[in-house]
Amino acid sequence: STLPKISNEKCLTYAPGSSERKNVREEYDEQARQCPHIACVVNGKDVLTGTTMEQLIPHNHKKSICTFEALTPKLVEDAINGALKAKMSWENLPLDERAAVFLKAADLLATKYRAKINASVMHGQSKTVWQAEIDAAVETIDFWRFGAKFAKSVYQIQPTENDFGVWNRMEYRPLEGFVSAITPFNFLAIGANLPSTPVLMGNVALWKPAENSVHGAKIIYDVLTEAGLPEGVIQFLPGEGLPFAQTTLRSRDLAAVHFTGSTTVFDTLWNEVGKNLSHYKTYPRLVGETGGKNFHVVHETADVEHVVNSTIRGAFEFQGQKCSATSRMYVPKSLWPRIREGIAQKLPELKVGSPGEFDAFMGAVINRRAFDRVSGYIKRAKESPSCQVDGGAFDDSKGYFIEPTMITTTDPSYESMREEIFGPVLTVYVYEDDKFEETLELCDKSTAYALTGAVFARDRGVINHVLNKLRHTAGNIYINDKSTGSIVGQQPFGGSRKSGTNDKSGSANCYMRFCSPRSIKENF
Ligand code: NAP
Repeated sequence: STLPKISNEKCLTYAPGSSERKNVREEYDEQARQCPHIACVVNGKDVLTGTTMEQLIPHNHKKSICTFEALTPKLVEDAINGALKAKMSWENLPLDERAAVFLKAADLLATKYRAKINASVMHGQSKTVWQAEIDAAVETIDFWRFGAKFAKSVYQIQPTENDFGVWNRMEYRPLEGFVSAITPFNFLAIGANLPSTPVLMGNVALWKPAENSVHGAKIIYDVLTEAGLPEGVIQFLPGEGLPFAQTTLRSRDLAAVHFTGSTTVFDTLWNEVGKNLSHYKTYPRLVGETGGKNFHVVHETADVEHVVNSTIRGAFEFQGQKCSATSRMYVPKSLWPRIREGIAQKLPELKVGSPGEFDAFMGAVINRRAFDRVSGYIKRAKESPSCQVDGGAFDDSKGYFIEPTMITTTDPSYESMREEIFGPVLTVYVYEDDKFEETLELCDKSTAYALTGAVFARDRGVINHVLNKLRHTAGNIYINDKSTGSIVGQQPFGGSRKSGTNDKSGSANCYMRFCSPRSIKENF
């Protein structure tokens, strides 16, 4: 391979007195003083559309971190035409030249823009500096660096047999058309990755970032431009999802949708594609990662302290706004008093506050809609005869703050055991020790999702049995580890059932989805 050696980027510590702490503090304060106005960018030019939206700061919702121009259907049409023109020269560049853009972008983000991107998501998604570092810096850098390697590995899959006088080979063409990339608020790295994956394979993409992520998304876009991405290869189109989806999904040139977000929205995209099938030049690829209801299954042989620590991290880090966040747990009666005490005792120590203080464990949830949804689940649990609640305070006077909350229910099909809450709420069901088999059935059948999960047990036979029994219950399963924290290149990520198409971001599989192979046979 001609690629430089690639390994996972290391997280910086942000210890008090460290230079990285000082740099990010300065950037954070600087960004707090500014509120830039961000334009759409089409064919490399800033475009004003006359409709302004704003990105509020979750822990200080009277302030915004930026305002931005919202896309219009006409602008999206112009962007499609511009992208298709840009494609002609982009797709003809050798992979190494395309990869060089992303490798350089990764280096720029690791050095010159690290503090800036981290400060942006501390304001924009209320992440602590350590959460920001894991998401916006490290995971984005890993996606871009490993992306070059994954793309290369796809091209290397070639036929191994040739009859005498014949040369067989496979050509990995980009898709015919453009890619519609729609990305969520909760991980900026996903925002960066979804347009980048198809673009590395020689495609062009229209990118609509979530409205609660526009500030950080624009930094990502600018880094790619500085790294040499030609005009029009990624078109930057913040604004509302519906007009973006309707315009891109009704285009004859739609080649693929690359989506991450809720199951509900992904369903609407499939339906829209279905309605337009006869109109397309080619069947569009639909690649989507969606919601989850991720579990911890605890066996009576598990290490209690390890379960407590892993569950606190899995359920409450990142305010529970991780698709993989632990949100339901099954615990045997014999271990429950110690596990309950361990978690309940620690809840008040998990400080909820502004990321700018550098001492909070968690920030605020993303917006009013999230606050109402999550606090609604807590209120109903407090009123339900089948539930007991630990934690459970919330306050939206300054920011959308919700304390880490544990609901214990005697009803295994209670709403919060089945539905994605996407906030810092864990629901626990305590089972009789001799009902482990039935509990595995419950775990498998209770929800429509199949994203992540974990089994905690010492007994190898039990672990093996759970892996078999829950074969389709999670796309990423952990043994004696929390249900969160997949690393690019180490644990390819994705779920099935209503959690997505399971094309495994962070692996070569996903790159395969964005090319159209051509078999070539030549007679000598
Ligand atoms: P969301 O509400 O579904 O939004 C995702 C994207 O879709 C945003 O850009 C959003 O734009 C856009 N959108 C909203 N309505 C739309 C419509 N009718 N047509 C087209 N686009 C539309 O999800 P989110 O709140 O940003 O993210 C949280 C969800 O993402 C959770 O369900 C979580 O589990 C999931 N997620 C999954 C993974 C995974 O890998 N499986 C990873 C991260 C997140 P606006 O922001 O402008 O509304």
